[in-house]
Amino acid sequence: MSRFPVTLDLSGVACLVVGGGSVALRKLEALLAAGAVVTVVAEDPLAEVVRLAAAGRITLEIRPYQDQEARDYRLVFATTDDRPVNAAVFADAAAAGAWVNVADDPQRCTMELPARVERGSLQLAISTQGRAPFVARRLRQLWDNTLQGEWGAWLDAAATFRAAVRDRAVSRAAANACYDRFFAATVDDVRRRVRVPGAAELASWLPSPDEPGSSPVAKGAADTGTRTPALVSLIGAGPGDPGLLTVRGRERLLAAHAVVYDRLAATALPTDLPAAVELHSVGKERDHHPVPQAEINALLIRLATEGKRTARLKGGDPYVFGRGAEEAEALANAGIPFEVIPAATAAVAVPAYAGLAGTKRAQAARGTFLAAHRGGDAEQAPIRWDLLAADPHMTLVGYMGVTTLPETVDALLRAGMAPETPAAMIERGTTAAQRTVRCTVRTLAASATTAKIAPPALFVIGPTVATLSALEWYTRRPLFGRRLAMAADTHELAAALRDAGADVVEVPTPVTPAARVVLNAQPLSGFVFWCADEVAALAPERPRLTPAPIAWCRGPVVAAAAAAQGFAPVVEVSPDTDLAGWVAVLGAQATEDAE
Ligand code: SAH
Repeated sequence: MSRFPVTLDLSGVACLVVGGGSVALRKLEALLAAGAVVTVVAEDPLAEVVRLAAAGRITLEIRPYQDQEARDYRLVFATTDDRPVNAAVFADAAAAGAWVNVADDPQRCTMELPARVERGSLQLAISTQGRAPFVARRLRQLWDNTLQGEWGAWLDAAATFRAAVRDRAVSRAAANACYDRFFAATVDDVRRRVRVPGAAELASWLPSPDEPGSSPVAKGAADTGTRTPALVSLIGAGPGDPGLLTVRGRERLLAAHAVVYDRLAATALPTDLPAAVELHSVGKERDHHPVPQAEINALLIRLATEGKRTARLKGGDPYVFGRGAEEAEALANAGIPFEVIPAATAAVAVPAYAGLAGTKRAQAARGTFLAAHRGGDAEQAPIRWDLLAADPHMTLVGYMGVTTLPETVDALLRAGMAPETPAAMIERGTTAAQRTVRCTVRTLAASATTAKIAPPALFVIGPTVATLSALEWYTRRPLFGRRLAMAADTHELAAALRDAGADVVEVPTPVTPAARVVLNAQPLSGFVFWCADEVAALAPERPRLTPAPIAWCRGPVVAAAAAAQGFAPVVEVSPDTDLAGWVAVLGAQATEDAE
């Protein structure tokens, strides 16, 4: 059963505290601050308690608790370390219908005092319903540190403002519009800070005479909430390499209250996204169905309407076959402000990482993006195979075409495309898992099947594909294919490994929810541990990861820590290994695996 929080008016109310130790002292200070009339019964009270009595602030009875005594009070606290006494106090109070709290004994509490953060009249009360009081204490500390600034004075201004708004007797909707203006102008909801507005500013937020609903109406008029919706950013994540997320995209993600991401975009999620940001996964995952588009649209609208700045992170570019247009239309229709942050689409970035230039002066004068899945989708525009097949100086890039590849090839050949036109299929481009198959249009379907190419993959057809091997730069790097996790802020090593071609996931400690998503978004080769603290911080992530990640450890102490945490295999790297040495060690391992 969940408990019911209330705030009580205790002025003049008779309260009993049994016991006179430090727990009692804390409670009775809180009670006195609330104006209660407090009696303390204690055999051996602390000097502070005696002083409060001497000052006339409490009644102190230095003696044992007497049978039935608790009946005469409204609120009762038992704080002795004598369980039978506490039990007797509880029984008496409960029988008399008084609210009672027995310290450290949740079974004998009909009430509890929440942990509180106070700023003037503003109170934030935190309760774990008696289940883990230490959590409440730590959260109080956290919020006490978080709520910087003049919240008390700000609340006073809010109260003044409310009185002024009420004096105008406007409709509920118009009043809410005033409160929105007050909030928007005074609250920094990212940094949780407030500023205290002056009287002139407050007056400027009062209803203007021509504002709808500002003519006086009877109290209790219908409430049509008028919160200003927040901005939704449709952000392209690029095709996988987290380094291809744009500067603007990253900025919006870090400032968002909520992030809605697809599976294809998960590797690009910033691992340093604050833990407080709401994360919504709407992508297809193994054993899970994708969230229907209508639900994604509804989610974006709901979040924005709740006033949450929302970042919608999509693979590649939001407007290239990503249903970004549908989301933008839904937002526009709902009157929600949005923006689009373009990014490298797969057709542009993936071939580049596979050693392929999309156009070349002598070979291709144009390029085409094709949505190559057909699957009986009645809403999809028809494909003019005749036009695609007719131009020998074109690069054709097909998205979403793995399962329908035989039909696609068949349609192109029947429309007259030269069977020996160079072709390639690229799977998971720009990531450690990138694989490329080179062939011709004639052999494309069979080659992809033999190589077990699976989505996400795209095909590229055209004369420029012949340049493929000459321009390969990405897959030739010594650590290509390695996906390594390490604690954030070991910059020198992370940068060196990245330069050597590894996909490095820098994980903040404590581990953020976003970092967890990134770690699980693609198989990890292993962890690189510089010191034992990092092993302790990242080890809890290990059991979720398949295949089991290798632990590369600097020195024997770190290696022992990793083994103790269940990492296997553990590779010990000598502490005097330099950056180039690390690349060599990790690269040697990569070669072994490939053999
Ligand atoms: N908006 C995305 C495309 C979404 S449709 C973009 O602009 O890239 C999904 C298809 O994109 C996949 O089926 C695949 O054909 C392609 N794709 C996306 N990421 C890819 C990657 N890393 N490697 C290969 N193909 C990819």
